[in-house]
Amino acid sequence: MARRGRIATTRGTIETPAFMPVGTQATVKTLDPDEVWRTGAQVILANTYHLMLRPGVDLIREAGGLHAFMAWNGPILTDSGGFQVFSLAANAKVREEGVTFASHLDGARWTMTPESVVGLQLGFGSDIMMQLDHVLGLPAERRAIEDATERSARWLERAVTAYEARGGPASRSVLFGIQQGGMDPDLRVRSARQVAEANVAGCAVGGLSVGEPKPVMAEMLELSTPLLPRHKPRYLMGVGSPEDLWHSVARGIDMFDCVLPTRAARNGALYTPDGRISITNARFRSQHTPVDETCDCEACTRFTAAYFHHLFRAREVLGLRLASIHNLRFLARQMETIRTAIESGTFASALSAFDQRYLPIVGRGRAQLPVIEAETRA
Ligand SMILES: [Zn+2]
Repeated sequence: MARRGRIATTRGTIETPAFMPVGTQATVKTLDPDEVWRTGAQVILANTYHLMLRPGVDLIREAGGLHAFMAWNGPILTDSGGFQVFSLAANAKVREEGVTFASHLDGARWTMTPESVVGLQLGFGSDIMMQLDHVLGLPAERRAIEDATERSARWLERAVTAYEARGGPASRSVLFGIQQGGMDPDLRVRSARQVAEANVAGCAVGGLSVGEPKPVMAEMLELSTPLLPRHKPRYLMGVGSPEDLWHSVARGIDMFDCVLPTRAARNGALYTPDGRISITNARFRSQHTPVDETCDCEACTRFTAAYFHHLFRAREVLGLRLASIHNLRFLARQMETIRTAIESGTFASALSAFDQRYLPIVGRGRAQLPVIEAETRA
């Protein structure tokens, strides 16, 4: 099911499959936007929840929008903030109208509705907007998953209505719907059909890679992806390990985002064609060759593994920056390899070559979300 595509936005074309670096707070941590661009990134992500709280949509609008504010001229996808409301904010309460919560910064009460989230993203000048969804921590009871999934579908309809009322495509932004359904096959299928039928530009898959075994994520993708329209991009949210990218492309996914490559980089974990290494390990102390001999990034072409090792041991800021550049370039090159292989009809053999060489990290954990069910109105 691997496929090669092209997404045209008013700020440039995205060749897919593509990985999108995450710039949660309108910055890809430690990097200048030009550095991000030179790693081969075609589009970056920003987060509605964080930017709404600080610096606020009014300030960003005053600055001329998010692109001008952060000096990134390529496309920007903004996440709706649904995931952050349920993972970061305190006292989240879900009602049919929307979700109220206390800011993780200062405890102030906020409300997000499907309509307000569209308004915020239009205010940022986002190229690709995401609907507000009800994200549930797992494991949860089937009834709770069904309730959250159905609410997400109703919220999608409201987001579409709000988007169309605000100009629709004339706003120069497009809206994506998000599939939920937990790890329940029936609910995944139902949710995929709901998103497939909605008047949206793209279909996102949410609620996966939240700690479930890899075969379960694969099963959910295999069940739901074939139900999505062929001509719309499919975006698997929050997935970014090299092995997950390859295996999800094989299941028909076009777009990915994840904080993992930059977060791992800041912890001294660097990708190589053989797997992830820890640069602080003593074996790199006197390795006077690049971390990855095959890498063409601005770090590997200038600095040795021994220098990286020294920077991390000395806790120098440059180490965090160089490692971030390397990991983003590594993933961008994986995607380039994937695109070339699809074009030449050799994806299957390229995937098996990757699997034979790359040793994945096992047992990696991700922050667990709480189960926050909807309240019924008194
Ligand atoms: Zn490199």
